Amino acid sequence: MTTGAMERFFKEGHGSIPSARLVTRRAFLRTLFLMAAFLLVYHVMSSVELRSSFANVRDSVAPVLQSTPTTAAAGGEQAFSNAGHKGEFTQQQPPQMGGGPKVTLGKEKATLLMLVRNRELFQALGSMRMIEDRFNKNYHYPWTFMNNRPFTADFIKYATGMASGPVEFIQIPRDHWSVPDSINRTIMDDGMRKLRNEGVIYGGSSSYRHMCRFNSGFFFREKALEKYEWYWRVEPDVEFHCDLNYDPFTFMRENKKVYGWVISMYEFESTIPTLWKHTKAFIKKFPSFLAQDNSLNWLVDGANVTKAFDNKEIEGDYNMCHFWSNFEIASLDFFRSPAYQSYFDYLDSQGGFFYERWGDAPVHSLAVSLMLPREKIHHFADIGYLHAPAGRCPADDESHSSGRCYCDRSTSFDHNQYSCTPRWFKLNGVTTGALMPIEPNTI
Ligand code: GDP
Ligand code: MN
Repeated sequence: MTTGAMERFFKEGHGSIPSARLVTRRAFLRTLFLMAAFLLVYHVMSSVELRSSFANVRDSVAPVLQSTPTTAAAGGEQAFSNAGHKGEFTQQQPPQMGGGPKVTLGKEKATLLMLVRNRELFQALGSMRMIEDRFNKNYHYPWTFMNNRPFTADFIKYATGMASGPVEFIQIPRDHWSVPDSINRTIMDDGMRKLRNEGVIYGGSSSYRHMCRFNSGFFFREKALEKYEWYWRVEPDVEFHCDLNYDPFTFMRENKKVYGWVISMYEFESTIPTLWKHTKAFIKKFPSFLAQDNSLNWLVDGANVTKAFDNKEIEGDYNMCHFWSNFEIASLDFFRSPAYQSYFDYLDSQGGFFYERWGDAPVHSLAVSLMLPREKIHHFADIGYLHAPAGRCPADDESHSSGRCYCDRSTSFDHNQYSCTPRWFKLNGVTTGALMPIEPNTI
């Protein structure tokens, strides 16, 4: 009713005429009362509903809710943990969302693993969101975050919020992230200066060297990983382009796979000038670690795998092919094995992580290619993945029709001249997957 209409109403004998302001105030108060009453009823109804669904969730993910995240304490290896994973591995029940799709719980002793800095929180959440939406929301595998510094309260809060499974935040012990006494600082500084002057990426960075050495020789030794058999390495700021409608850890176990990868490429030679020489010397020293039917011919053009195995000696030059280790789904037991550990120790004693700039990608790749039979290495042809600047897209139709891939097959890095994947396919007799002919601009 407008004020004018009200005046007419009163004039027509329905009562004395109150002031227009009074009428407006009464109408306002009445509306306010009605709104408050409505809000009260709504609040009571929804909190009853919330409480009952919270009770379900609490019973199923009790360990996650056990302790409120706080800033990780400095110094300790397991500085912060709210996962409830203490000692023995126990897989948590997932929260059952009412009415929604039924969740399949991941059954493997596996974790999503991210080494990350606090300042990369936003990029970490981006990667987490994609893995959760495309895969983990149906499996609820735990996340393990590692950092050489204490994680901030914000990092813990938001990463915990993004995860659909338990989370653990680990501070790496100092001796897994420091320059060993055996390293000659002058040679190290000279090496860093040289690579920086040459414009090599991360050439002058000591933190990058710590990271590469940690990923080469230490991540699998952290206590928090003892309860796991498998890890899926995730980096901040990566993208996953397709649904993963099966459990890759179960796939790896059932098919007796050890190492899974998606992108391969050539390493910058200036970062590893002596890595191959030392690798050959290591195999010469420990020939029993060279696997029969290894992948030497992927690493060395024209190599004779059988001859190398029979002679217990590797010949030829390294062509720089390696699996891009920012994505890995792999067995922790492989890295814990005497073969890998003695390989790492041997390399570490040569100082190349600091004097040169050995990356964990070539180190993992050389170990995997030489110490494992080729059938234990798996290329995840159905995973669409981007770590700038390289991204690859499944080539098969099925991945796009039922896996809801959202990536352009024609620009896949698999077709790039710097990809070593066509070489892998050729040597391993793979005729489907990355090498399928693609019309430009077809998704
Ligand atoms: P790139 O992929 O070779 O360009 O190197 P990144 O900068 O992505 O580093 C590789 C991984 O190690 C990423 O997960 C980073 O978050 C992580 N990382 C690199 N340097 C550090 C560091 O100093 N501290 C921590 N905690 N993580 C690091
Ligand atoms: Mn990266």
